[in-house]
Amino acid sequence: MDKMSIIVPCFNEEDVLPLFYHEVTTCLHEIEDIDYEILFINDGSHDHSEDILKILAKRNHHCFYYSFSRNFGKEAAMYAGLEHASGNYVVIMDADLQHPPHLLKDMYHALKDEGYDCCAGKRIDRDGEGKIRNILSHIFYKIIQKMTKMDMSDGAGDFRMMTRQMVDAILELKEYNRYMKGMFSFVGFDTKWIEYHNVQRVAGHTKWSFHSLFSYAFEGIFSFSSTPITIAGFIGGFLMIISILLGCYLLVNELFFHDQIAQYFPISCLILFLSGIQMIFVCILGQYCSSCYFESKQRPIYIIKDSNKKI
Ligand code: UDP
Ligand code: MG
Repeated sequence: MDKMSIIVPCFNEEDVLPLFYHEVTTCLHEIEDIDYEILFINDGSHDHSEDILKILAKRNHHCFYYSFSRNFGKEAAMYAGLEHASGNYVVIMDADLQHPPHLLKDMYHALKDEGYDCCAGKRIDRDGEGKIRNILSHIFYKIIQKMTKMDMSDGAGDFRMMTRQMVDAILELKEYNRYMKGMFSFVGFDTKWIEYHNVQRVAGHTKWSFHSLFSYAFEGIFSFSSTPITIAGFIGGFLMIISILLGCYLLVNELFFHDQIAQYFPISCLILFLSGIQMIFVCILGQYCSSCYFESKQRPIYIIKDSNKKI
């Protein structure tokens, strides 16, 4: 019999967990001949999520929880779930029911009957989300697609069902700075996309502030592309040529025409501009260095404090 593992990262989700559990188990019971496990990864919640998960685990022996010692982030929670999943089909989905559970059946058939390695949900609109967040996300995905040459389109999230083979391939990627959307694309495999309309959270609120979204976006770019360094090099070269031409122009003016254009030239602006650019480039290099620094420490990606399953 096939076994499906559902991985659910949870961070302060006390309001949605009972609803999620009800919806998902109802949808799973509609799939014939399937065993399942639901792995709730409690990512250092401060609310009553852990108590609720303990109750669910007692009530249903298919439910397991893993509580982190602190908040390690959704990427770490997904990784922990993948490491502990024992099913031959593995699903990642959010706890807030924004990933429609009724799609699980179609995803399962896409993998089992149509032979795909992965079936992923693709959100075709962002109705109900902030306008600025929409525009910024759209721009980010355009940039990251161009820079990484990988398929990371807007709307393609973490909601997906994968075969054991694909999960094992992702687990082979041991890096500390984990950008899962990039990893799905990096490992390849045949993916079927199922489109769905954006759904609002059933309760609670998003854990992503603008600041965390920006850091996440930069992490994605720096984890999967070295294009920023190339761009920095091109701009540096371009500015060097401009400065040589400008220097020649000023010299000729001074020597032959005694035109003291230089004194009118807003040199301070130029210095400010160039030092700004240099700072940005140093920052880009620093980002890559800091990634290497954290990778070299080989710290654990997450620490489990408590679980109802033997770790
Ligand atoms: N999440 C997590 N750790 C975090 C932030 C979020 O495990 O540090 C979980 C959260 O509980 C939810 C999922 O990741 O199940 C998606 O989070 P959220 O709904 O806040 O993101 P959004 O849908 O707004 O992008
Ligand atoms: Mg959400």
